[in-house]
Amino acid sequence: MPQVRVRFAPSPTGFFHIGSARTALFNWLYARHTGGVFVLRIEDTDKERNTEEFLNVIYDSLTWLGLNWDEGPKAGGGFGPYRQSERAPIYREYLAKLQAAGRTYEKDGAVYFKISGEPQVIDDAIRGRVERTEEKDFVICRSDGNPVFHFVNVVDDITMQITHVIRGEDHLSNTSKHTELFKAFGAPLPVYAHIPLILKQNGPGKMSKRDQGALVEEYQRRGFLPEALVNFLCLLGWSPKDDSEKMPIAEIIRRFDLPGINQTNARFDEKKLAHMNMTYLLEQPADRFVALARDYFQGQNVTAATAADPAYFRAVMLLSQPKIKGVEELPAYTVYFFIEDFPVDARVRDKVMAKGDPQARLRELAAALTTADFSSDTALEETIKATAAKNGLGFGDYQAVARLAVSGTNVGPGITGMFRVLGRERVLRRIERFLGAA
Ligand code: GLU
Repeated sequence: MPQVRVRFAPSPTGFFHIGSARTALFNWLYARHTGGVFVLRIEDTDKERNTEEFLNVIYDSLTWLGLNWDEGPKAGGGFGPYRQSERAPIYREYLAKLQAAGRTYEKDGAVYFKISGEPQVIDDAIRGRVERTEEKDFVICRSDGNPVFHFVNVVDDITMQITHVIRGEDHLSNTSKHTELFKAFGAPLPVYAHIPLILKQNGPGKMSKRDQGALVEEYQRRGFLPEALVNFLCLLGWSPKDDSEKMPIAEIIRRFDLPGINQTNARFDEKKLAHMNMTYLLEQPADRFVALARDYFQGQNVTAATAADPAYFRAVMLLSQPKIKGVEELPAYTVYFFIEDFPVDARVRDKVMAKGDPQARLRELAAALTTADFSSDTALEETIKATAAKNGLGFGDYQAVARLAVSGTNVGPGITGMFRVLGRERVLRRIERFLGAA
């Protein structure tokens, strides 16, 4: 079998949509699975809408997702140029071929392609046999001289020797035009694989770029892990036989194949994505998690955190890693580690302060903490337990008020870890301040 050559052919519109990312991913996976070549081709014939900035959105998103291309802009390759805006001579040459074969005519300045009118049958790798007959000749070159999508798309697939066209199902209805053109050029048809649509989270209809959560850059900005998004995306329309979900990319590459792609539409599920991201976050090595957190704090301009001592920042992040669902929760979750005038949850305060004599408990605990060993969670736990036991009370009676005094809330990492990371000085200073104000 000749080497598989697939392509991802986005039009730079300024958005890199989840649907585009999935199409790119399926092409990339198929290339990696088969040892083939993944080509990036930019369909930028619509000059007014395309800018360099829009191109960068595509390059950046693909790079962030880890979908490296073997041929294309920046990568080079033997079938370039890879931007349609730079391929005018090739299109002229191919237009001349059709003209020489008597398959074109001009009307009102536009060049029309004379269809054969025969039924166009494809054996789609996902949809099976699809038949459609073109009924009307169609424009391949506009009166302004610009060739149209169907024509350049097919010329490029022929000249770039694309073996498999894996693309969104919205293009299925174009395929009969494309196969008409392939045949007119005497070129063999590629294998087609039309991927089912992604439905919006709520309600009927296809997910559009205006839907919430539709843009890849949004996830990047929100500190998602690209491998979590990739894992989620591959399950939008594909599933391995045993319905595994979380899989390392090497396993996905090994198991991915076109027959495993479903015919039914996939529904976007942001909760599932958030959950996938959380499971990936949990298992990140410390260095990577801390780096990810730092990027996010920097992006959000949380200077109190980014200016903090790096070892302290790291300790705070590692304490939080098992507790959060996403990196974007970190600034609020860790606020009191970095500032002294942290918010105090009034409802929590009212509840905690209504029970017994919390001030007295806090005073006892503070006394015990002056000599406690702050380097060990176990030692701190023993200190709190011993103080409670002396007064015939439980750990919880002490931890709730201590937590309130030190963090202003009742949620957060375990109190002993929190004390250890904050350190004796901060903890005692906060308790004193709290007692003074209470
Ligand atoms: N530029 C087309 C698009 O953005 C690509 C179509 C194809 O993959 O053949 O949908």
